[in-house]
Amino acid sequence: MEPSIKEQSAGSPVLRIDRVEKIFRSDGREIAALTDFSLDIYQGEFICILGPSGCGKSTLLNAIAGFTHPTAGSLMAGNKTISTPGPDRAMVFQEYALFPWMTVAQNVAFGLKIKRLAREVVRAQVDTLLHKLQLFDFRDRFPKDLSGGMRQRVAIARALALDSPMLLMDEPFGALDALTRSSLQDEVRRIWMEFKKTIIFVTHSIQESIYLADRVVVMTYRPGTVKKIVPVNIPHPRDMSSPWFVSLQQELTELVTEEQMRSQKAEENIARIRQ
Ligand code: ADP
Ligand code: MG
Repeated sequence: MEPSIKEQSAGSPVLRIDRVEKIFRSDGREIAALTDFSLDIYQGEFICILGPSGCGKSTLLNAIAGFTHPTAGSLMAGNKTISTPGPDRAMVFQEYALFPWMTVAQNVAFGLKIKRLAREVVRAQVDTLLHKLQLFDFRDRFPKDLSGGMRQRVAIARALALDSPMLLMDEPFGALDALTRSSLQDEVRRIWMEFKKTIIFVTHSIQESIYLADRVVVMTYRPGTVKKIVPVNIPHPRDMSSPWFVSLQQELTELVTEEQMRSQKAEENIARIRQ
C-alpha cells in the first residue's frame, strides 16, 4: 500500500499501537474485544476507525485515552507508554458528556480550571473558543437549553480548551440528524486544519469516514483487528457525488458488510447455544 504524504514526511509516529489485545473477563466469561491490533499514527493525521457495532472501536479509543488497559501489547504516545489519561489526549464522547449544572462557558472552562490557570487567562481562552465555535451568544445557557448539535459543539470546545495535540472522538455525531451532522463534520475538518490536531475519529458511517479521513482503518468484527487501511489522498472539501467518492464508498461497503455478516452469524450462533 502507498504510504500517505504525511506518513512519508512525518518521521516517527505520535501514536504507536502495537499488537494490542483486550479481553474482558466477567462472570467467568471472556470476551475478546481486540486482538493483535497494530497501527502507527502520524502528527496531523485525520484517522477514521470504521467498523460495525460491537467490533471494539470504543475499547480501542478508551485504551488510547488511557481509560482502560490492554491485556497484551502496548500503546505509546510519543516515546511514553500510555497508562493513564493525559493532557496530550482529549476525548469527545458520543453522549453529550457535559455537566448539566454548568453553563456553556463553565463547561468549556472546566479543563482549564484543572490546569490551575489564572481566572482572566481562562476567561480569555474560553471566549476565544466560544467565538470560534459560534457559541459565544450562548455562553450563559445550560446544556438542557441547547440543541443536540450545539451541545456537541460545546463538548468539542471543552476538549479543544485542553489544547491537547490529539483529539479522540467516539462516534461524536452518531445521535445527530443528518443536516446537523454534516455541518459539524465541516466544523471538525475546519478545526483540524486550523489547530493542526491529530484526530482519531471513530464512526460506523462509511460516508463520514471518506469525507473526513486521511486514512480509513476498517476493523474486523470482534475480536477487532485491522482488516484494511484505505488511504484517502483527495483534497478537501470532498464531493460525495463524485465518481472517486462513490467507488471508494462501494469498496468500503463491501469490507464492512463482510464483517457485519460475520457479526450476524456469531449472534445467531450465540442465540442457538442459548436455546
Ligand atoms: P464498539 O464501540 O465497536 O461498538 P466496544 O468496544 O464497545 O465496541 O465493545 C466491543 C466488545 O467488547 C463488545 O462485545 C462489548 O460487549 C464488549 N465490552 C465492551 N466493554 C466491556 C466491558 N467493560 N466488560 C465486558 N465486555 C465489554
Ligand atoms: Mg462504541
